[in-house]
Amino acid sequence: ATPTALMVGTGRGAQLGILIKGPEVLESTRRVDTVVLDKTGTVTSGRMELVSVVAAASVDDREALRYAAAVEQASEHPVGRAVAAGFGGELPPVSEFASVPGLGVRGTVEGRPVLVGRGALLAAEGIPVPAELAAASGEAAEQGRTAVLVAWDGSVRAVLAVADTVKPSSAEAVARLRALGLKPILLTGDNAAVARAVAAEVGIAPGDVIAEVLPQDKVEVVRRLQAEGRAVAMVGDGVNDAAALATADLGLAMGTGTDAAIQAGDLTLVRGDLRVAADAIRLARRTLATIK
Ligand code: ADP
Ligand code: MG
Repeated sequence: ATPTALMVGTGRGAQLGILIKGPEVLESTRRVDTVVLDKTGTVTSGRMELVSVVAAASVDDREALRYAAAVEQASEHPVGRAVAAGFGGELPPVSEFASVPGLGVRGTVEGRPVLVGRGALLAAEGIPVPAELAAASGEAAEQGRTAVLVAWDGSVRAVLAVADTVKPSSAEAVARLRALGLKPILLTGDNAAVARAVAAEVGIAPGDVIAEVLPQDKVEVVRRLQAEGRAVAMVGDGVNDAAALATADLGLAMGTGTDAAIQAGDLTLVRGDLRVAADAIRLARRTLATIK
């Protein structure tokens, strides 16, 4: 490989909005045949909004949201921020706050232990979900929304639905990646029904969706694909994507994402436009072809 051609490749990358860690990165893109896409913040905008509150019969909607928002005001997760912002009023303080990565949060509000998160968080605590709320949760998921369960004093009291939107450019991005001969796979910690709804919107088959993956297990998914003989590019934005970005043959970080993801990636897509992932791979292939 001639250093000059590689430098030209990195310079052209900067023009396209791609920051490349070093010219040697272009080498690793050559074999890439699979592209794993994180859902939240990568395929979707990650700007989530609270859209509904369904409380159990004996519980006031506003009260349930107040408890959930009080705990989530300490959260940095997009789901948590949407819940906290959705209350729109003065919140009581939270103590003993803890986040449970990939599952939700817990804390004490007005002396009550409160849990906020997905079904698995409550299942782990042995707290059953009443039938009416399980139905509301399933309905939210069918609509492509993230269902957030709220429990205190050992019972599930409400289901909140949080909506994210698929970025307008994501479907075109998936089509461009496919046109380069790559197999796109959607990977997320979110519920399988939500993930399938997003996949359908961008043109990824249900069989290529890997959902309900805990943050620490995303890297295992990449390793498993590599063990199957695939050369894997991973695109992500979150702290929970960092290990997978570092392990992938090519890690592409969204420039709009966390510092942890940007540091772990080989490339940064500066504007957070997923279509540029295809540009990056095409550029690398072309640059290498010039060298050969
Ligand atoms: P992703 O892989 O899509 O970026 P995460 O692994 O961060 O998602 O989270 C997985 C799921 O865990 C979320 O979709 C949500 O259901 C739940 N979750 C995570 N953090 C929170 C929180 N602060 N409040 C409520 N639910 C949460
Ligand atoms: Mg993400």
